[in-house]
Amino acid sequence: MRKVYNFSAGPAMLPEEVLREAAEEMLDYQGSGMSVMEMSHRGKIFDGIIKDAEQDLRDLLSVPDNYKVLFMQGGAWTQFAAVPMNLMVNRKAVYIVTGQWAKKASQEAAKYGEVIIAASSEDQTFSYIPDCSDLEIPEDTDYVYICENNTIYGTKYHTLPDTKGHTLVADVSSCFLSEPMDITKYGVIYGGAQKNIGPAGVVIAIVREDLIRDDVLEGTPTMLKWKTHADNGSLFNTPPAYGIYICGKVFKWLKAQGGLEAVRDNNVKKAAILYDFLDESSLFKGTVRREDRSLMNVPFVTGNKDLDAEFVKAAEAQGLVSLKGHRSVGGMRASIYNAMPIEGVEKLVSFMKDFESSHKNG
Ligand SMILES: *Cc1c(COP(=O)(O)O)cnc(C)c1O
Repeated sequence: MRKVYNFSAGPAMLPEEVLREAAEEMLDYQGSGMSVMEMSHRGKIFDGIIKDAEQDLRDLLSVPDNYKVLFMQGGAWTQFAAVPMNLMVNRKAVYIVTGQWAKKASQEAAKYGEVIIAASSEDQTFSYIPDCSDLEIPEDTDYVYICENNTIYGTKYHTLPDTKGHTLVADVSSCFLSEPMDITKYGVIYGGAQKNIGPAGVVIAIVREDLIRDDVLEGTPTMLKWKTHADNGSLFNTPPAYGIYICGKVFKWLKAQGGLEAVRDNNVKKAAILYDFLDESSLFKGTVRREDRSLMNVPFVTGNKDLDAEFVKAAEAQGLVSLKGHRSVGGMRASIYNAMPIEGVEKLVSFMKDFESSHKNG
């Protein structure tokens, strides 16, 4: 049994079964006499690992054949630049700013072309998702960009923007594989692995084939050109091999849970335990508009900074760790990704109830 429940936004918890399996295979991967960390990425064994990982990911998300799956490095941040470099043929893109990550992505894109902010929720500390049903989108925009789940603020798009026929690009770092998605609605999705999929160091992009082109922006580094990785099965240079191996194990674990429908049902159940309590609590309050709540990241406050700090400290003593909220929101944030067991959420809520009753008259 693990000693703590880790509510960190990322790097975050991985399934215990996956970690145990990896530990067992650490010194001798399937009779090879080596760790996966030590073997050639051009060898037969690793070839099987990466091919299986890709296939399992395709199965989980029902990725259509005309999309490529790319395993890359550099985190989500590197894709903030790769997206415009690969897609900005007309040097124009629309961004919807629903938090720090979307904002940073838009600022990075502005180095390469014109960025139009079609909607933003910054006026209310990003506590909601703006109405995106009738955005002003120029005819010649290269794409429309969203951050689908806002890790810091705890909001999620429950309806995708109407892009009026333009390519939708989504950063799905913190909701990757948390529920089924219709990949055909997107041109590109990508995410860093360390939130919901695997170790830091791997970033996965799923890109529609017609968006993988040779005529990328002049000066695009070879490593940032999606075609480089697409043409080489993500083995152009040395990939983050051990990370991909762990991601592959997580994919198998998700399949064993019954696939993404079952994963979503479980995530809905877990989130409801926390949200239901926040809705009735006299001490703790959720910070996000109800209809925009994330299943993965749940920010909440007491309204009193000192009390927030006291709570975080007391929770830690109970093995409920990394509950401190992001510095731009304050308060607390519970990240309850796929690998967070329901018992962890139950224990958190039970502790919040105790904390509440002991502070009722305080
Ligand atoms: C964490 C996060 C990032 C940044 O990821 P890095 O891998 O550290 O670059 C970007 N977008 C979202 C939505 C995130 O949650």
